Amino acid sequence: MRPPEKGLTVAIVGGGFSGGAVAAHLARHEAFRHGQIIVFEPRAHLGRGLAYDTDNDAHRVNVPANHMSLDVDDDDHFLRWLERHDEIVRDPAALASDGKVYPRRGAFGRYVSDYVKPFLLSGVVRHEKSRIIEARREAFGWLVVAENGTRLAADILVIATSHPAPQAPRGFDHVLAGHPRYVRDPTVPHALDAIRPEDRVLVVGAGLTSADIVSTLEQRGHVGPVTVFSRRGLRSRGHAPVIQEPFGDFSSQPFRTALGLVRRVRALIEVAKTQGLTWHAVLDALRAQGGLVWRRMPLAERRKLVRHIRPFWDVHRFRIAPQVEAVWEGWSNSGRLRLLAASLMGVERKGEAINVSLRQRTGGINRNTYDAVVITTGPAHGGILASQEWLSRLGEAGLLHGDETGLGLACDDESRALDREGNAIPGLFISGPLARGTFGELMGLPQVNEHAILVANGIALSAIDDISQRHFGVV
Ligand SMILES: Cc1cc2nc3c(=O)[nH]c(=O)nc-3n(C[C@H](O)[C@H](O)[C@H](O)COP(=O)(O)OP(=O)(O)OC[C@H]3O[C@@H](n4cnc5c(N)ncnc54)[C@H](O)[C@@H]3O)c2cc1C
Repeated sequence: MRPPEKGLTVAIVGGGFSGGAVAAHLARHEAFRHGQIIVFEPRAHLGRGLAYDTDNDAHRVNVPANHMSLDVDDDDHFLRWLERHDEIVRDPAALASDGKVYPRRGAFGRYVSDYVKPFLLSGVVRHEKSRIIEARREAFGWLVVAENGTRLAADILVIATSHPAPQAPRGFDHVLAGHPRYVRDPTVPHALDAIRPEDRVLVVGAGLTSADIVSTLEQRGHVGPVTVFSRRGLRSRGHAPVIQEPFGDFSSQPFRTALGLVRRVRALIEVAKTQGLTWHAVLDALRAQGGLVWRRMPLAERRKLVRHIRPFWDVHRFRIAPQVEAVWEGWSNSGRLRLLAASLMGVERKGEAINVSLRQRTGGINRNTYDAVVITTGPAHGGILASQEWLSRLGEAGLLHGDETGLGLACDDESRALDREGNAIPGLFISGPLARGTFGELMGLPQVNEHAILVANGIALSAIDDISQRHFGVV
C-alpha cells in the first residue's frame, strides 16, 4: 500500500494535443496533490502531436484562434499568446479577410507546449520520449512498458494515441510499394520532397489533408496538374465570409432518427437565410450541441449518421482556413486542379509512370498517367485495436473494445473504458477523438479540450476516492 502522502501515478500514452491537455489540466487540478503524471510520447515536445508538430508554413489551423483556447473561461488566451510571441507580426497572412486569425499550426503546437511547460519544470509532469509497447492490468493497477525499456507501475492509464494512420484504397499499396513518389503518409515531415514541380499528382481523398497538400505544393512552386478524387467529390468547405453567431436549437427535443435531424438542419438553414445568415451558423450550432444530440439518439440511428451522413457532415464541419481555400480556388479556376467524384478501378506501374483508372460517379471511366500519388483518406477509425499490438492485447484481455458505431473505443460518459458487458474498467480512461463513439463531436478544438478537462476531472475524482479510501477506509 502507498504511503498516504504519495498521490496517484498517472500514465498517459500519447502526448499529442489530447495527452498534453489532460496532463496540464490534471496537474492544475486542486484535488490532484502529490501525484505524478508520466506522458509517453516519442515526439520531442508535448502537446503537438500529428496536427501541430509541423514547421510547414502552409499548414494553418482551420478554426479561428479565438476558438482554440486551452482556457475555457478565456477565449482570447491563445490570441494573447500569439501577440506576446510576435507570431502575427512574423506571419501577417494569419489575419484573414473575415477579420479572424488563422495562425500556422506549428504556432498552436508551441502554445500548447508552453502551457504544459511549467508542470514539466515543477516535476508534476514527466515526458518519457518513447512509445509504449505493452500495458497490462496488475493487482496494483497498470504496468506499462516503453520501447526504451522504461517500466512504470501506474494507478491510472490514459489512452490518448488517437486514430491510426489512413489506409490507402486497396491496390495502391500493392502496386506502388517502393515507388519514389508514392506518399503513403503525408503527415511525415518532408513527405512531399520527392515530388518535382512539373509532376502530375494524384491526391486520394478530398478532406483537410488534401487541402494541406495543395497549399504545400503551391508553396513549393508546383506547376504540374493535380487531380484530387474522393467517392463523392466533396471537398472541405471554407468559413463564412462574415462572423456569425451559431443559429438553431438542437437540444430542447431529442432526435429519434437521423432523417429527422437532417430535416431539422435543412429547415433551419432556410430560416437562417431569411435572417441574412448562412449554413455555417446552423452547422456551428449543431457542432456545439452535437454531443447531446448524439447521445440521445438510438444506436441504429447513430450508425445511419456514420454510414450516410458523415461524409457531408465532415466537409461542412471541418473547414479550411481562408488562406488555404484561396489557393485551392485559384488552382481550380485556372484548371490546374481537378476534383473528381470517383472510385478506384485499377492502378498499374510502368517504370515510374503510374496509370490509374477511376470510375466516375457520373458514369464513364477516367484513365490517366501520374508521376506521384498522395494518400489523404483520413484516419482509419475502425482499425484502432489492430493498429498497435499492446492495444490489441488489451482488447484480447477484455479491457478494450471498439464502440458500437465503429468510430473508436467504447467508453462511458466519464470516458472510462468499458468491457463487453458495459462495465467501466477502473483506472482506464480514453482521451480525445478515440472516445468519439460516446461523445459524438470530438475531433477538433474546442471539443477535444473540453473532453481533456472531463478526463482530468475524472482522474482527479479518482484521486479523492483513493485518499478517502486510504485515510478513512471509504470510497
Ligand atoms: C493534420 C490535422 C490538422 C488539424 N487541424 C486542426 C485545426 O486546425 N483545428 C482544430 O480544431 N482541429 C484540428 N485537427 C483536429 C484535432 O486538433 C486533432 O485531432 C487533435 O489534435 C487530436 O489530438 P490527439 O492528441 O488525440 O491525437 P494526435 O495528435 O494524433 O496525438 C497522438 C499522439 O500519440 C502518440 N502515440 C501513438 N501511439 C503511441 C504509443 N504506443 N506510445 C506513445 N505515444 C504514442 C503519437 O506519437 C502522437 O503524437 C487537426 C487534425 C489533423 C490530423
